[in-house]
Amino acid sequence: MKEYRVLLFYKYVAVENPDQFMNEHLAWCMQNDIKGRVFIAREGINGTVSGKVEDVERYKSHLKTYPEFHDIIFKEDEEGSHAFLKMHVRVKKEIVNSDLKATSLGNGGKRLTPEQLLEFYENKKDFVIIDARNWYESKIGRFKNAVAPQMKNFREWPKAVDQLKNLKDKTIVTYCTGGIRCEKASAYMVEQGFKDVYQLDGGIVTYTKKFPDTYWEGGVFVFDERRVVEPNSNPELKHVSNCYFCGTPTSYYINCHNLDCDKIIVSCHKCKVENDYCCSDECRKSTNKRNKYYG
Ligand SMILES: [Zn+2]
Ligand SMILES: [Zn+2]
Repeated sequence: MKEYRVLLFYKYVAVENPDQFMNEHLAWCMQNDIKGRVFIAREGINGTVSGKVEDVERYKSHLKTYPEFHDIIFKEDEEGSHAFLKMHVRVKKEIVNSDLKATSLGNGGKRLTPEQLLEFYENKKDFVIIDARNWYESKIGRFKNAVAPQMKNFREWPKAVDQLKNLKDKTIVTYCTGGIRCEKASAYMVEQGFKDVYQLDGGIVTYTKKFPDTYWEGGVFVFDERRVVEPNSNPELKHVSNCYFCGTPTSYYINCHNLDCDKIIVSCHKCKVENDYCCSDECRKSTNKRNKYYG
């Protein structure tokens, strides 16, 4: 049994005083050896944190003492260590940068459980599954037959949806890592006239925990020091991407250590070291390089 836990959570709910929450929360986390990042806004909370099992249990109870978060849902992974180096709590305008209106939130896609998505696949239902994440996330893993718009960030979602408008009469399923982006992504599609829109409830993280080695292919990109989680054990489904340098199947990636480049490239561990965490000779010669400690 591993000693640490990584939590992922969000909730869209009116928050009265984000600044006050930020200060209290940061202090509490520092005292209780919780690390990670939490975004707080008037529209809700979005966080991922790590800590020892007992500290994380206390964290969960603590967060639930806030009336607005009493029913918040935690997704949990076991780990051998912290998944973060520090604790950050930030007040933001949105808990995921999107520039999409929050007014349509309640009218998002219908919630599709992992069980129902599995059934869609098993019954060969006529549906289109759409990845609401960024290009580099879908590069290392995605649902079988998923449409993956090549977005740099979530602000490009309206542009991506515009390119999918020929699918308005189809059954659509959107998915993202934990579900937070789909709340707005699916609501936006409904607003744009898509007739039958679902959002995967609990996201990839919940689905792959329940049904590994089924219809998820490859690794799951995560925004912490683990970088990627590999839910499948079937060698056929373990990786969908290959090392940029040697071609070996891998889901691992690096950000080129030349900070002026910072390009995300898929790389196996061996090539990462051999190439000094850089994408090219030119980047290796840069004088503006990242500290090696960071991925
Ligand atoms: Zn390699
Ligand atoms: Zn580079």
